[in-house]
Amino acid sequence: MTVLRLLSLKLRYQLVALTILLLATNASPNVNAVRPPPSSPNPRINGIPYQYLDSWARQRGMECISNSRNSEVTLRARWGNASLSIDSRNATINGINLWLSYGIRAQNNRPIIAERDLRHVLDALLFPRKPNPPRPIRTIAIDPGHGGKDPGFVLGNRAEKTYNLLLAQEVRELLLVAGFKVVFTRYDDRFIELEQRPQLARRAGADLFLSLHHNCAVNSTEAKGVETYCATPLGTPSTNGGGPREKAEPSNKFDDQNIQLAYEIHKSLVRSLEMNDRGVRRAGFEVLRKASMPGVLVEAGFMSNPEDAKKVFDRKSRQQLARAIVDGIQSYKRGMERGLVTPRR
Ligand SMILES: [Zn+2]
Repeated sequence: MTVLRLLSLKLRYQLVALTILLLATNASPNVNAVRPPPSSPNPRINGIPYQYLDSWARQRGMECISNSRNSEVTLRARWGNASLSIDSRNATINGINLWLSYGIRAQNNRPIIAERDLRHVLDALLFPRKPNPPRPIRTIAIDPGHGGKDPGFVLGNRAEKTYNLLLAQEVRELLLVAGFKVVFTRYDDRFIELEQRPQLARRAGADLFLSLHHNCAVNSTEAKGVETYCATPLGTPSTNGGGPREKAEPSNKFDDQNIQLAYEIHKSLVRSLEMNDRGVRRAGFEVLRKASMPGVLVEAGFMSNPEDAKKVFDRKSRQQLARAIVDGIQSYKRGMERGLVTPRR
């Protein structure tokens, strides 16, 4: 009898303790707790699903701050930040410019963002995940743009194709020193069809595809700076116009890695060479669309701008361009291997 009573007393104590514990858990405010999603359903614009940016930020442990006019939005965390403007596709992540597919809008006085921009830009860059299974990065395919009968831009007696190949050769030297294997889509001044270039990279077993070009503005010396392109994700429009891409391409398997690689190379070029930042962009270029590995296309300065032209035409400056590109590749590789492109959630 006494034993039974003792047992039941013990049980009662346990029940009371459990109840107190449960009450305490519910009562104590947890600053990191994820708030329930807003009661308003996720909005759609022209059939495209959007999410409330402030709710998304809270779920990721980021602060979401709007300016007094509600025109600028800043997302902030210890490890990084993003700035976005209402009704604009321009954004910056840790101070580096990039273009969203749709941009953010305001609804019910709150910022909303297309789900595809969340997934393929903010999540990919602020919360990168290691590829699963891991993809080792050993062989880099370099594609010097144009060649042979296709000179690319021509400025006086200077053809873009020449400087694309010269830059590619400098990049190769540095990649070899860093222990990478390097293959070219063209080693000399010859014409190669666009569709053949990613095919050559695939046959060589390349892990990354890097197409090198230079820009040139017609009748103007004003435009300057660097642009880094990656393939347009499925179901989104390209930066320079056109409707959403609805046909899956080989590149779409790498939508996240494409922008991560583009961002790292672009960041390195902009920061180390102080080049004008024209942003990470998306395009349906054939060489990028057909790449069956993560790939980018770099427009490494304007031949038509005196400041950029120095970097393009001078060997020493070209070596610095090459160094910045290789640093970006190394940074991407480290991120993919250790998941450290930026801290993870
Ligand atoms: Zn070109």
